[in-house]
Amino acid sequence: MTPADPTLTASFVRHGLDDDRFHDQCGLFGVFGHPEAAHLTYMGLYALQHRGQESAGIAAGDGRALRLEKGMGLVNDVFSEATLAQLPGDRAIGHVRYSTAGDTVASNAQPYLIECHRGPIAIGHNGNIVNAPILRRELEAAGSIFGSTSDTEVILHLYARSHRERLEDAIASSLYKVMGAFSLLFLTPEALVAARDPWGFRPLVIGRLNGATIVTSETCALDLIDAEYVRDVEPGEVIVVDADGLRSLKPFPPEPTAHCVFEHVYFARPDSLVFGRTVLDSRIKLGRQLARETHVAADVVVAIPDSGVGAALGYSEESGLPFEWGLIRNHYVGRTFIQPRQGLRSAGVKIKLNPVRQVIEGRRVVLIDDSIVRGTTSRKIVQMVRDAGAREVHVRISSPPTTGPCYYGIDTPLKSELIASSHSVEEIGRFIEADSLGYLSHEGLLAAVSDPEGRRHCTACFSGRYPVAVSVLDESQLRLFEKARA
Ligand code: SF4
Repeated sequence: MTPADPTLTASFVRHGLDDDRFHDQCGLFGVFGHPEAAHLTYMGLYALQHRGQESAGIAAGDGRALRLEKGMGLVNDVFSEATLAQLPGDRAIGHVRYSTAGDTVASNAQPYLIECHRGPIAIGHNGNIVNAPILRRELEAAGSIFGSTSDTEVILHLYARSHRERLEDAIASSLYKVMGAFSLLFLTPEALVAARDPWGFRPLVIGRLNGATIVTSETCALDLIDAEYVRDVEPGEVIVVDADGLRSLKPFPPEPTAHCVFEHVYFARPDSLVFGRTVLDSRIKLGRQLARETHVAADVVVAIPDSGVGAALGYSEESGLPFEWGLIRNHYVGRTFIQPRQGLRSAGVKIKLNPVRQVIEGRRVVLIDDSIVRGTTSRKIVQMVRDAGAREVHVRISSPPTTGPCYYGIDTPLKSELIASSHSVEEIGRFIEADSLGYLSHEGLLAAVSDPEGRRHCTACFSGRYPVAVSVLDESQLRLFEKARA
C-alpha cells in the first residue's frame, strides 16, 4: 500500500462524518378528506424523516382557512399534541427538509403559506428548479419581494401572477416556466393539488385511506397509516383533489423520463416502493451485480449500515461469502451532536459506528457502502476496521464513482469536493487506505434497476449526462446557484 496523497488529506479532513454524504432534501405528505388530517400528516412525516431532518411543517385547512405550524428540528421536536391541536380540518400538507449549513434558517422551512389575490395557498416542494435564479431575477425586476432564499418561492410568485381562472390552470401555468425537478403539494381552502415534473425526477405516490386521498413521497408513509397504495403521480401529471373527487391533467409537453437512480442506491427507505420497484430488491440486485464485477478473495462481507446493508446481502448471496454484522450503528445520534475535542478525536467515527471485533479480527473483509463522496468517511471506517484486527479490507461500492453534483434536489458538495471528480479509482483506494477498491459499473447500475438502455433513469452525478441542461444558467448565475447551495 502506498501512502495517501497528502493534498487530499488536507483538503478533505475538515468534513464531518454526517456531511460526507449526498442528502435528499425533502419529503412530502398530503391528505384530503380525513378528520384527523394533521395527525395523519404528522405520522406520514415521521415515516419520511430520512428525507430531511432539519425542519418540519404542516399546513392544514378546514374548508375556510389555512393554518400553519413549522419549525427547525425533527418532526418530533417541532410537533406536540398542543401544536397539532392548532391545525384543525380534514385536509393538510406536510414537509420535512434537509438543508445545507448556509440556509439552515427558519424562513426556508416549508410548507410556505401565502395570501394573494387568489386567496391563501400553501406549498411544499421536493426537488430543485434549475432556472430559479433567472426567474427570480425577472420577478424581482417586476417588483416581487422574496421572503426566503428558496427556489420554491419562485413558484408561488408565478402562481400569484397567473391570470388563469381555475386553480389547476393557474398552478400549471406557473409551473410551465420552471425547469428541473419538482414533486409539489399545494393546499388551498378548497383543494389539495399535487404536481410532478415531466422528467419524474423525484418520487410521488397516491394512496387511499377510508375514502381519504393521500399523496406522499414514499410508500413507507402509506404503510405506517395503513393506507393502500393506488399508483404513482405520473411524470408531468397534475392532480386535483377536492369535494368533487380526484381529477388529473397533463399540461406539460412530454420529456424523456429521468427518475433519480440514487433513490434506489441510497435515498429511499428500503421498505418503500419507488418508481414501481421495491427499493430493497434494487439494492440486493446492485450488490449481486457488484459481486459479479468486482470479485475478490475474502472471508466475510460487512455492510456499512444502514444504506449498505441491502447491497451487502446481495454481494453475499452472489459471492457465497457469509454476510455478518461487523459494524453496528448508533441510531440515536442527531446532527447536533457536539463533536469531541482534540484529545478524543478518535471517538469521531465510533460515535456512529462501532466494529464487532469477533466478526472482523484476523479476517479478510469485503466492506460494502453505497457511495464515496469526499472519501473522508470511508477512510476513517477502513482505519476503524483495521484497528479491529482485519487482515485485509476490500471496499466495494454499489454505485459508480460520483463525479458530478446534482442539480435536481439533492444536496451535494461542489464538483471540486467530490473525490472521484479528480482522482482515479486507484488514487481513491490509496486515499482511503483500502487493500483494494471496486465500484459498480454504469452498465451494472442500470442493469440492476432493470433499465439496461438507461431510458428511464437520471444518472448524471455518475455519467455527467444531465437530463435538463444546467446551461440555462450562464457562468455567473451558475456560480451564484452553487454558492447558494454551498
Ligand atoms: S444527478 Fe444523481 S442524485 Fe441528482 S437526480 Fe440525477 S441520479 Fe439523482
